Amino acid sequence: EDNTSPVKKLVTEEGHSQVVATHYNTLQECGLAARSQSRIFHMRNFNNWLKSVLIGEILDKVRRSRREVCVLDLGCGKGGDLLKWRKGHIDKLVCADIAAVSVEQCQQRYSDMRRKCRPNERLFSAEFVVADCTKEIMSEKLRDPGMTFDVCSCQFVYHYSFETQQQADLMLRNACERLRPGGFFIGTTPDAFELVKRLEASDSNSFGNEVYSVTFQKKGDYPLFGCQYDFNLEGVVNVPEFLVYFPLFEEMAKKYNMRLVFKKTFYEFFKEKIRNEQHAFLMKKMQALEPYPADDRNKLSSSCPEEYEHAKRRAE
Ligand code: SAM
Repeated sequence: EDNTSPVKKLVTEEGHSQVVATHYNTLQECGLAARSQSRIFHMRNFNNWLKSVLIGEILDKVRRSRREVCVLDLGCGKGGDLLKWRKGHIDKLVCADIAAVSVEQCQQRYSDMRRKCRPNERLFSAEFVVADCTKEIMSEKLRDPGMTFDVCSCQFVYHYSFETQQQADLMLRNACERLRPGGFFIGTTPDAFELVKRLEASDSNSFGNEVYSVTFQKKGDYPLFGCQYDFNLEGVVNVPEFLVYFPLFEEMAKKYNMRLVFKKTFYEFFKEKIRNEQHAFLMKKMQALEPYPADDRNKLSSSCPEEYEHAKRRAE
C-alpha cells in the first residue's frame, strides 16, 4: 500500500520546486477587504512600501543612462509589483514564475491594467513565462531569446533556489546573464543570520508567535545548500524555504560578473529611506505601519511579524 502523502511524493520525485509551485498555485486571492482585516495587513503593506522604494530608486538610476528600460521580474507571483513597474514608467517587462496559475493571474492583472489605463498613457509591453527558474533557462522560453534587461527584480523568491548549488546557480544565471553592462539585480530574501540567531535562542527547533512560525529540522548544523526550514505565516505561506548564506551568494554572483552594490536589512533600509519626505508620505498612503518601536530600534536588525504585532498594539 502506498501511504505517502501527495506532498511527500512530490518532494521525492521532483525536489521541493513542485511543492512550492502547487502551494502558490492554490493560494486564494482574497481581495482587498479581507486582506485589510488580516493581522498581517500592515506587514504586507510595509513589505510593499519597501519594494516600491527600492524599485523606484533603481529605476531612477537606470534611466540616467537608458532611454528604454527593460525589466525581468523573476518569481513575479500574481503580479504584486505590476503597479510599481507602471509608476516607474518602464518600457518592457518579462514576468516569470514557476506557478502557472499565478502567472495567469499576473497576466490577467496586466490586461486589466492595460484596459483601464488613460488613453494617452504608454503602458509597458509585457511577456509572461512559466518556468522553474532553478532548473530551466528562462530566456529560452522568450519570444526573443536574445532579449536583454536593465534590471532583474527577484522579490522574496531567491531563497527557494538554495536547495542545491546547481539550482541556486541556475537561478542566479537566469537573473544575471541577460543583464546589460551596468544593469542591476535587486531582491529581497530572508536574513539567514537572523533566522539562525532566533533558532539558537529558542529552546526547540522552532520559533515564532501566534502569527508566524519558522521550523527547522534540527539545530546547530547549517549546510550551505539545502538548509531547509518551514515558514508559516497565518495561512498565507506554508512552504519549505532554504537559508541563503549571503557571503556565499555574493561569491557565486561573481561568476556572472556581478559585484555587490549594497545589502541592507529591512530595518537599515527603512531607517535610511524614511528620512525622505516622499518615502514617508508613501508609507502613510500605503497604510504601511512602521514596524520598529522607537525604544527597540537599536536592538532590531530585521523586519518580522513579532515587531508588527508590537507596533499594532501601540497603534491601537
Ligand atoms: N515576487 C512576488 C512578490 O513580491 O509579490 C511573489 C513572491 S512569493 C513570496 C514567491 C514566488 O516565488 C512565488 O510566486 C513562487 O511561485 C515563486 N517561485 C518559487 N520557486 C520558484 C522557481 N524555482 N522558479 C520560479 N519562481 C519560483
